Amino acid sequence: MRIECIAIGTELLTTRRIDTNSVWLGERLASLGLGFHRKTAVGDIRRDLAELCREALTRSDLIITTGGLGPTFDDFTKEIFAEILGADLVEDTRCRADMVAFYAARNRVPPQVNFKQALIPAGAEPLRNPVGTAPGVWWQDPPGHRGVRIAMLPGVPREMKRMWEEGVEPRLLPLAGRGVHTLRMVVAGVPESNLDERTREVRERHGHLDWTILANLTQVELLARGPDPAELEAARADFEPVLGADLVSVGDGNLEDAVLEALKLRGETLAVAESMSGGLLASRLTAIPGASEAFLGGATVYTVRAKAALLGLDPAWLETVGTVSAACAAALADAVRRRLGATWALGICGNAGPGAEGGAPVGTVFLALAGPTGTEVRSPTLVGDRAEVQLRSTALALDLLRRAMASAR
Ligand code: ATP
Ligand code: MG
Repeated sequence: MRIECIAIGTELLTTRRIDTNSVWLGERLASLGLGFHRKTAVGDIRRDLAELCREALTRSDLIITTGGLGPTFDDFTKEIFAEILGADLVEDTRCRADMVAFYAARNRVPPQVNFKQALIPAGAEPLRNPVGTAPGVWWQDPPGHRGVRIAMLPGVPREMKRMWEEGVEPRLLPLAGRGVHTLRMVVAGVPESNLDERTREVRERHGHLDWTILANLTQVELLARGPDPAELEAARADFEPVLGADLVSVGDGNLEDAVLEALKLRGETLAVAESMSGGLLASRLTAIPGASEAFLGGATVYTVRAKAALLGLDPAWLETVGTVSAACAAALADAVRRRLGATWALGICGNAGPGAEGGAPVGTVFLALAGPTGTEVRSPTLVGDRAEVQLRSTALALDLLRRAMASAR
């Protein structure tokens, strides 16, 4: 079933308002095992809306619109659909009575323009609005489009939600049930393009699943959606050997969850000493509840003075080797590991920019991992702005530890 959302309102195209209605609707659809194949925002412009509605009728089984049901000149969702589908707008006596009662309860009579809201396309059903005056519309099998359903809802989020719950969801229940299941695989330390290439063959073998690759600065997610859990399980089994050690986890959770999980399973602990990343690594780890079972803590040692005072490093020696160096990163990891008595320790130093520092170009990073069998240092060169270089460096540090634990199994 192809479901499309059209958010109507010129304000949604500016920076003043974000279309949150479709996000909420997407969540509600997911709870029914359904989902959007398309979402669009469009202004209160007749020609644009008509064009979009016409297209939607040719490609979607369920069209959900929000907005444009009000009484003013810029509200014409019902008119547009009625026009395209060749139906008349007819006054619904119950809607008119509801509206009169709504105003009467507030000691007022409805302004004349409001009666426009009681007009419903012939052949469609009104959706009552218990919290406002504009009724919505439910239109099943509109002329020339058997099997199509249109739900027109108001733009005001509070009204839209009530009417979805009371009017639309009950009508969709017969279509739900065939749940959609998701397989989520998290991969780290591999560029998105490499992953795309490496997994193409397996993805094609499971081509009837709906595939997505989502990359961010710290990891790549491979997502598959489909109706049959057994098919997803088969896809997972085929992927595991292809991804090998690059596979961080399957299911919910991210790189930091996987690292903490592995540490807990092994009964081991972690400490960190961060210069360039300024505490971001510790922050990412402590964002996870229960992190203290494996993460002992660490130090943000941004200056030579802090490196000396908190970790006991010799300032003169630091000046000699440089604070952006492999020797410095290793010393940070070793010192914090010793001081906290941790199984593992990560040290990060580098230059996140914007200017060159101590002769090191922007993006120069040194990551050290100290562990039971020694200390190793990696020196990737990262691209991106300051925040990106800092975030990426924490991800690579976590991945370094994750891989070390996996191979020391
Ligand atoms: P109605 O169909 O209820 O008459 P409308 O389009 O006429 O809707 P507006 O006055 O345009 O109503 O919008 C009412 C409020 O709802 C505004 O604050 C608007 O920003 C908000 N709104 C409209 N659409 C959305 C949306 N998709 N997501 C979040 N807020 C929205
Ligand atoms: Mg509007």
